[in-house]
Amino acid sequence: MTETKARAACLIGWPAAHSRSPLIHHYWLRTLGIEGGDVIEAVPPDEFQDFVLRLSIRGFVGANVTIPHKERALALTKPDARARAVGAANTLWYEGRELHSTNTDVEGFINNLDACAGGWDTAEEALVLGAGGASRAVVFGLIERGIKRIHLANRTVERARALADQFGASVHPIPWEAIGEVLPCSGLLVNSTSLGMHGQPALEVDVGRLPPQAVVADLVYVPLETPLLAAAKMRGLKTADGLGMLLHQAVRGFELWFAQRPAVTSELRALVEADLTNA
Ligand code: NAP
Repeated sequence: MTETKARAACLIGWPAAHSRSPLIHHYWLRTLGIEGGDVIEAVPPDEFQDFVLRLSIRGFVGANVTIPHKERALALTKPDARARAVGAANTLWYEGRELHSTNTDVEGFINNLDACAGGWDTAEEALVLGAGGASRAVVFGLIERGIKRIHLANRTVERARALADQFGASVHPIPWEAIGEVLPCSGLLVNSTSLGMHGQPALEVDVGRLPPQAVVADLVYVPLETPLLAAAKMRGLKTADGLGMLLHQAVRGFELWFAQRPAVTSELRALVEADLTNA
């Protein structure tokens, strides 16, 4: 009789204890009836290279990678176009003996928008706040979906300019003070800064100046409903939240490791919401 070993993946971070990754993947393993596992591996930066290069020897079929290892993961693997464009890898898997990587924040962001606010991509112009790692995934996804003009506002405008230089003519860096001027022509507003997160300053943006059909997305998921999303809902605008993005970005890794595409269900969302609320 052939003995089949259960497949296992891991989440590598430093620190890593707060990650919801195992909660999400165990839900899918359970509901799909797959024998497998997902564990947290707290790996300090000076041990990361050795850990990743011996991932399969350690018994893993792949991994999620989080702060502070995402750039290093890119350098140590064979990245796809998304990971290269974002400059960071968060999902690793083997093809034969070769360790590949991608950045699933791109599809997490886009698939969540599709699920929550279908038709959002009829917007010709978008306003993205922030020019950090998450913003790069957002901007890349918006360009892939054909948004013609992306206004990019960042506190440090040089970072927005650098991002525009990389991503091309559809990205228009603007100073933070100019946000009010582009709100009336933006069919999509995205917060990819950490503003509005618990413990961070509030995000001061007047959603009343957006067009009536505008969609508002916030990457922040602590709190689950940010003041920005609450204000957008009050105005009757469609919204997409950070938890939705977090759940959608986990789909691809699971599919690559366990060979079945899982669904983001309301039951899964409730499970993770409860965990975040009780944290
Ligand atoms: P990051 O690389 O550190 O970038 C942070 C961004 O926030 C920068 O644009 C920074 O502007 C801006 N910022 C910080 N404090 C500010 C302030 N006081 N005023 C104005 N702007 C400020 O972080 P990141 O990885 O891009 O993450 C950004 C947010 O997205 C975080 O809240 C993170 O949790 C969230 N996120 C969510 C998901 C998800 O799945 N939902 C995925 C990834 C990230 P400067 O350039 O001027 O410093």
